[in-house]
Amino acid sequence: MIQLYIPLNFLGVVYREIKQALTDIEKMFLLLDREREIADLPDATELQVRGGAVVFDDVRFAYDPVRPILHGVSFEIPAGKKVAVVGPSGSGKSTLARLLYRFYDIDGGQIRIDGQDIRAVTQSSLRRAIGIVPQDTVLFNDTVAYNIAYGRPGAGKEEVEAAARAAHIHGFISATPLGYDTMVGERGLKLSGGEKQRVAIARTLLKNPPILIFDEATSALDSTNERAIQAELEAVGQNKTVLVIAHRLSTVVDAHEILVLEQGRIIERGRHDALLARGGRYAEMWRLQQSSGDQ
Ligand code: ATP
Repeated sequence: MIQLYIPLNFLGVVYREIKQALTDIEKMFLLLDREREIADLPDATELQVRGGAVVFDDVRFAYDPVRPILHGVSFEIPAGKKVAVVGPSGSGKSTLARLLYRFYDIDGGQIRIDGQDIRAVTQSSLRRAIGIVPQDTVLFNDTVAYNIAYGRPGAGKEEVEAAARAAHIHGFISATPLGYDTMVGERGLKLSGGEKQRVAIARTLLKNPPILIFDEATSALDSTNERAIQAELEAVGQNKTVLVIAHRLSTVVDAHEILVLEQGRIIERGRHDALLARGGRYAEMWRLQQSSGDQ
């Protein structure tokens, strides 16, 4: 019996390993599929940016086909204007930003910049036109200078420093013993959430793209820091087409249009005063934030 047991047991192990390997291969193909989806078309052209007007036209999207996330979202950000998206956690706000940057392709509808479908243009020209200040900036394990210059590879030392000054991070960097040569990231100097956001702002200033996406941090910074960063974002966004994913409603008061997203649908839209007067979902969110002091 024992003589039979050992080979059978061995066979079981081999079976499990083969099965795991097949599952991994399957996953790899799924990933490759995703990759293929966002490849440039053979006849992709360079995006021609005039003013940088953005249009979402009946956009449908699911990360996983069984769970649709956006159910036909339409809005327009005229060139040089700011549109803000608010709504509960998980409603699809950051997904809009990822789709505009074309991290994923949409399942229905169209996203256009100055009339050009973003699927028809090269990814490099699309991404040159858009700057993102994300919720959580990932820093490379490299120097602060490298991390800022990443916004525009080849940027000179003076340009990097000018961007850092404008983002109010120059003082902090200069105070470190190695200054701009200080290593940051996982294996280097750890920066606070606010400092990381400032590096991202400096990076974006250097890149100077016509279209900006601000994905506000969910975790509140202290309010002085928060206000200062908001003022800097405000300055960076002057005369640019801006999509703000807002968590604090004070950021959206001056937006050209505010979209209230819920479960992947725009349930209310308009300017701040009109939405307040309407007494709907936005007015309720505003009242709640006012009373909690979290603005
Ligand atoms: P928050 O305010 O918390 O940042 P959000 O409104 O920005 O939320 P999204 O990040 O757009 O929400 O996510 C929308 C939905 O999509 C969520 O239910 C989320 O779980 C799901 N989701 C997000 N990213 C992925 C992904 N890479 N794969 C699968 N599902 C995802």
